[in-house]
Amino acid sequence: MKKKRQPARKAGGRKPPKPLIGKLVIFGVGLIGGSFALALKRQRAVGHVVGVGRSRSNLLAAKRLGVIDEMATDPAVAVKNADLVLLAVPLGQTRAVLAHIAPHLASHTVVTDAGSTKRDVIESARRQLGATFSRFVPAHPIAGTEKSGAAAAFAELFEQRNLILTPEPETSARAMKLVRAAWKLAGMRILEMTASQHDRIFALVSHLPHLLSFTAVANIAGQANAPKLFQHTGGGFRDLTRIAGSSPEMWRDICLANRDAILSALDGYLSDLEAVRGMVEASDGAALEQKFAASRNARAKWLLKK
Ligand code: NAD
Repeated sequence: MKKKRQPARKAGGRKPPKPLIGKLVIFGVGLIGGSFALALKRQRAVGHVVGVGRSRSNLLAAKRLGVIDEMATDPAVAVKNADLVLLAVPLGQTRAVLAHIAPHLASHTVVTDAGSTKRDVIESARRQLGATFSRFVPAHPIAGTEKSGAAAAFAELFEQRNLILTPEPETSARAMKLVRAAWKLAGMRILEMTASQHDRIFALVSHLPHLLSFTAVANIAGQANAPKLFQHTGGGFRDLTRIAGSSPEMWRDICLANRDAILSALDGYLSDLEAVRGMVEASDGAALEQKFAASRNARAKWLLKK
């Protein structure tokens, strides 16, 4: 008689502990989605990672680099029996991805996202997911670089950084618990606020600075003697414009998604800049020095607290 095969056990006879997430499905295996997978794999917190993407070459790279275990082209098949689905796609893709997966989610599947804005994502999720919306956890990891794609992903990206959760009244406690636990294992500190608070804050501290950086480069590139000007740029220009190396698609979508908060941040900034222009025009050295000193002090205080 044939012997029944016993399940593989570690030396010592103990079963390996069950990972937090059996099956993780990532839509958008780029910097954020890829780093999330790597961080969880490093903690042995995930059993199997399926990647769904728009670009086959990026998914092949993700597989080769061990970021994902399996690539999938059909979203409906990919999400079958998933424990957690992470949306890490440009914001403009969120609605379509949710619409594709909504009818195929198992009753235990939790869905979360990493989008840089929250009100529009929540609106899409509420509309597309219907009753499953209670298992959708809106999230934004405050970590990143100016690089894109699976090859830019690394397991340490989220260490000691903040994760903002913006739950809605319907969000289930079980879904929150799973998402919190996963990002915590990735090394993040977890904070909560409303989606409106989030969008107003990040319009000022992230979206506006990116617009300034892109515009600083565009302003030089648009001059008749641009090559000569770029030749003479130094460390200051390099520092100010590092984030202008970010994905144009991602930043287009952020501007469209957070239009009102960004407009109000821009208006505030333009009036500040107008005031500085006035000081320069009036050759008001005292006012300029006072303005710059106040900025330098505020920056020093901020860095001290970091
Ligand atoms: P990325 O460009 O590195 O990765 C996005 C990936 O999504 C790409 O591989 C792209 O091919 C894929 N994709 C596009 N449309 C898709 C679709 N319909 N289905 C499946 N895959 C699709 O971008 P990223 O930096 O990882 O950003 C992803 C998300 O995270 C964005 O929503 C962004 O707002 C947010 N975010 C980015 C940062 C950052 O600093 N980069 C920080 C926090 C949050």
